[in-house]
Amino acid sequence: MADEVLYTRRDAVAVVMMNRPRYRNAQNSAMTYALDAAFARAVNDDEVAVIVLAGAGDHFSAGHDIGTPERDIDKSFDRHAVLWWDHVGKAGADNRYAREMEVYLGMCRRWREIPKPVIAMVHGACIAGGLMLAWVCDLIVAAEDAFFADPVVRMGIPGVEYFAHPWMLGPRFAKEVLFTGGRFSAERAYAVGMVNRVVPRTELEAATFAMAAEVAAMPSFGLALAKRAVNQCEDQMGLRPGMEAVFGLHHLAHAHNAEVRGDSLAGLDARGMKKAAK
Ligand code: ZN
Repeated sequence: MADEVLYTRRDAVAVVMMNRPRYRNAQNSAMTYALDAAFARAVNDDEVAVIVLAGAGDHFSAGHDIGTPERDIDKSFDRHAVLWWDHVGKAGADNRYAREMEVYLGMCRRWREIPKPVIAMVHGACIAGGLMLAWVCDLIVAAEDAFFADPVVRMGIPGVEYFAHPWMLGPRFAKEVLFTGGRFSAERAYAVGMVNRVVPRTELEAATFAMAAEVAAMPSFGLALAKRAVNQCEDQMGLRPGMEAVFGLHHLAHAHNAEVRGDSLAGLDARGMKKAAK
């Protein structure tokens, strides 16, 4: 497994740790494929009852990699996910759609369906693509210092690829988050039902592992069925078809950007986004 993700096991809990702390755990494709491999390993290990997803360093994840030296959007990987054909060498929307269907939307949807409970342990930044990773988890424990945002409307894009916003935040607050691009606190996330617990930073790990141990004591097949039950109902409430429909709007925005604003991200990298926020 690549070192973009660290995998350890503590009793019945697998810990999947994003490991690009220097870049606030910005997700390049190497990381999403490593996450996919780590989750598969946890699912295939009968000793693992619960999975904890965390970020090394000061932040959970600042989002997708839009500008580090290891940004790898033109690279092919061992495509175990096989959710679309390889994007490398394709032009325009064919390239973008294939890549994002695989490494963003497709993988996130797969991870949401992992048959074991997954708990996100969130501290610091949880921005845009970081939100996607927290949202695919079943439970979220947040430190008081955690902050959340999806600022991609600044790029003219109507939200990140895994468009769960109305279901995770409620429609009204989802619009505020998208329209302003502003940060919201762990406390606010708790108030709208997006996270399960908010705890002091110093107690984050203990609180998360206590919850994991409590869940791990339940029968595994019962947990898998309970997870599926809630996920199926969420899909009946429109999550899956809603997300599928919005993915088209997302790619309309990428294509529009490529046509009139220089590139599919409207010429904005991580630094540009920071500047635009001020
Ligand atoms: Zn995109």
